[in-house]
Amino acid sequence: MAKRIQFSAHGGPEVLEYVDFTPREPAAGEVQIENRAVGINFIDTYVRSGLYPVQTFPSGLGTEAAGVVAKVGAGVSGFQVGDRVVYAQAGLGAYSAVHNVVADRVAHLPEAISFEQGAASFLKDLTVYYLLRETYEITSGETFLFHAAAGGVGLIACQWAKALGAKLIGTVGSDDKAALARQAGAWATINYRSENIAQRVLELTDGQKVPVVYDSVGKDTWEASLDSLQRRGLMVSFGNASGPVTGVNLGILNQKGSLYVTRPSLFGYVTNRAELDKASSELFSLIASGAIKVDVSANQIFGLSEAQKAHRALESRQTHGSCLLIPGR
Ligand code: NDP
Repeated sequence: MAKRIQFSAHGGPEVLEYVDFTPREPAAGEVQIENRAVGINFIDTYVRSGLYPVQTFPSGLGTEAAGVVAKVGAGVSGFQVGDRVVYAQAGLGAYSAVHNVVADRVAHLPEAISFEQGAASFLKDLTVYYLLRETYEITSGETFLFHAAAGGVGLIACQWAKALGAKLIGTVGSDDKAALARQAGAWATINYRSENIAQRVLELTDGQKVPVVYDSVGKDTWEASLDSLQRRGLMVSFGNASGPVTGVNLGILNQKGSLYVTRPSLFGYVTNRAELDKASSELFSLIASGAIKVDVSANQIFGLSEAQKAHRALESRQTHGSCLLIPGR
């Protein structure tokens, strides 16, 4: 028997149950991983609430963890029992002491990176990788807007932008978060609870605005994001922390300057072994060089049994950077 988090109906954090289960044997093409640290992502709250509905109940939750290979399924090459690994999967169930994962979603975790650092950053690093390197290729000296810059994805984006020599303008929900984002490498910050986003972008860029906006906040920032873009700029809408953007009249893209909009997902960019290896090698070398540091505050490390508490903290905007669940704690 092992422990995991499951839920049997969509709803608030209270639907998350800490239960015993018997892990099945890994299927062909899978490895079984004993999770040492599980990454919490905002997407987990969308799945729990039903914004991203699950097909069958009870369902597991969670997409990211780091641990040790315990069993290897038929047909898997490149992994052995005892290997240190990290994964980001499209399926659910990482909130668990033991989890079977398709081997193509798993990467070897370099010795220099702890399980906690791996689980706190792998999915978020991959996200920043595809956003800044592929959806729109940020170049040295370029200025751009990135929302929720002190969050898990956000603090990594600040560091990655600095490593690229780019100027990230980050929105944040408090002055403390502004300080964290700037410390991580943001060129400038905007507190979107007290400042007008588009007005500040105009001032910070001497009237130029920005060629690209990365928006994971959604409903609350959609309009301001469009207003911050240069003519023919790109709006990258990649999340819904404040709620989804709905009911858009496409004509607004014309009115605001012949804009482009895309709604990408990590699992539409990093889809196979070759793409995972390419992205992982770039991000692991940034971590090894110290350009990206992943420190998780002690008060954001929860036991696996405390998933409800962790979701409440994340959704109430009390957290910064990444949060973790530790099995057996
Ligand atoms: P974060 O740690 O960034 O948490 C979300 C942050 O959003 C909060 O800390 C808060 O920061 C901000 N926020 C703004 N408005 C609200 C609101 N109404 N309610 C709650 N939070 C709000 O989470 P993650 O790092 O896990 O993910 C960041 C975003 O990236 C999410 O929207 C997620 O869905 C998206 N994402 C998308 C992926 C993709 O491929 N499409 C992959 C991975 C993540 P503040 O207090 O500063 O406003």
